[in-house]
Amino acid sequence: MTQFDVDLFVIGAGSGGVRAARIAAGYGAKVMVAEEYRVGGTCVIRGCVPKKLMVYASRFADDFHDAAGFGWNVGEPTFDWATLIRNKDTEIDRLEGIYRANLEKAGVEILNSRAVIEDAHTVHILNTGARIRARYILVAVGAHPTMDPPIPGGELGITSNEVFHLETLPKRIMVVGGGYIAVEFAGVFAGLGSQVTLVHRGDKLLRGFDEDIRDALGEAYAQRGVNLALQKTLARLDKTADGIAATLSDGSVMTVDQVLVATGRRPNTKGLGLEKAGVTVDEVGAIPVDAYSQTLTPSIYAVGDVTNRANLTPIAIREGHAFADTVFGAKPTIVDHDLIPTAVFSTPEIGVIGCGENAARTIYGDVDVYRTTFRPMKATLSGGSERVLMKLIVDKASDKVVGVHIMGHDAGEMIQLAGVAVTMGATKADFDRTVAVHPTAAEELVTMRTPLVMKKPVAVG
Ligand SMILES: Cc1cc2nc3c(=O)[nH]c(=O)nc-3n(C[C@H](O)[C@H](O)[C@H](O)COP(=O)(O)OP(=O)(O)OC[C@H]3O[C@@H](n4cnc5c(N)ncnc54)[C@H](O)[C@@H]3O)c2cc1C
Repeated sequence: MTQFDVDLFVIGAGSGGVRAARIAAGYGAKVMVAEEYRVGGTCVIRGCVPKKLMVYASRFADDFHDAAGFGWNVGEPTFDWATLIRNKDTEIDRLEGIYRANLEKAGVEILNSRAVIEDAHTVHILNTGARIRARYILVAVGAHPTMDPPIPGGELGITSNEVFHLETLPKRIMVVGGGYIAVEFAGVFAGLGSQVTLVHRGDKLLRGFDEDIRDALGEAYAQRGVNLALQKTLARLDKTADGIAATLSDGSVMTVDQVLVATGRRPNTKGLGLEKAGVTVDEVGAIPVDAYSQTLTPSIYAVGDVTNRANLTPIAIREGHAFADTVFGAKPTIVDHDLIPTAVFSTPEIGVIGCGENAARTIYGDVDVYRTTFRPMKATLSGGSERVLMKLIVDKASDKVVGVHIMGHDAGEMIQLAGVAVTMGATKADFDRTVAVHPTAAEELVTMRTPLVMKKPVAVG
């Protein structure tokens, strides 16, 4: 290597960057990665992992309550926010250490600095001033939460970045947004005992999900005491003696202790120097790439949230891996973005793969819909009011199951496995011949026999 200092320079040590760096190094490439914040990226440091730990914490309230019906007396449970945050931070530190060690074991050099692009092969390391010449540059810089549109007093609100470090549990919190992050945090704070108001401009939560799931989640949240302020937006925030006065678009004012804005995320491309290398971004700042994650500048690739394809950790990891296979492993690999199983860690939880009913009707025309809702067995003794919803969408022509939608306990775990079947192209007949596991909730997925009768045509959604 004469012309270049490294074969690969990765900007950003998150889900996509770390995987790409390790796999490329495994193929014998000399690899450097720059990280401006913490190794592990959004998922490990301030996304999926700490969020799931908080979701676990929030669900104990139900468990303590449910235990009574089974004969347990657990006394009056109390919750200590500081303990949760401290233990969560310890675990995140441990995971960051593992990510660093794995990179180092693979022979990847880690630079703790912001890095920007100077040209198609040069990266500028801001904290040392060094300039590294790289045969390939991988942009894996992720995204950041935004407060769009900006509102007066917006700085009084917090985003998902800060929510993991609040000093105290807010007694009253307003969560703004209707996507999965807003919904998950509303569930977390409701479970931990905060008074939660969820403000969303749409008429239902979770746009893009199956309408039955959206309806059921709205009902479940209302039942759990979440105050749903739908078809409203946040207009302004003002500091008052008693907290933060949040004014909504209908003129109503509510005083709360925290306002968590989770209305969207934007790729971290600002000031990255992409234009100096001939890489332009789209209207939201995302980097357009081809199926191999290559930009229009042949030496520059981009993976993960910065490309705004499917903004999920497993997808960033796959894209990073496929990039390394393609460029350094002589195995050109395309990531299929079509069938992505996914979970929303609301309480109740949601798991989905494939199309919702309306989308399936548009794509496949004639579909059969199987739906069941029931009270989970545990609720019979606990007295809980929760319900499980399961729905299968079947393309009539091929008998293929093209959508599975679950709301209820462990829906995320269930959809991972249902996802294997759907990815393999399982038909309804395959589901039917699968023996039920009894007594479980999941057995309903293989015992639904009668499709719903279509009442009326429905709008696409
Ligand atoms: C609250 C929350 C919850 C989530 N929950 C889930 C979930 O349950 N399941 C799921 O699949 N996904 C979840 N996600 C999404 C998931 O975290 C992202 O899709 C994933 O982290 C994207 O990986 P990435 O490699 O593209 O970017 P990131 O993981 O964001 O990594 C990018 C890294 O680049 C660094 N960086 C940025 N610019 C520079 C620069 N110029 N120089 C050096 N370093 C730089 C950043 O500091 C960061 O560490 C969640 C996200 C959030 C915010």
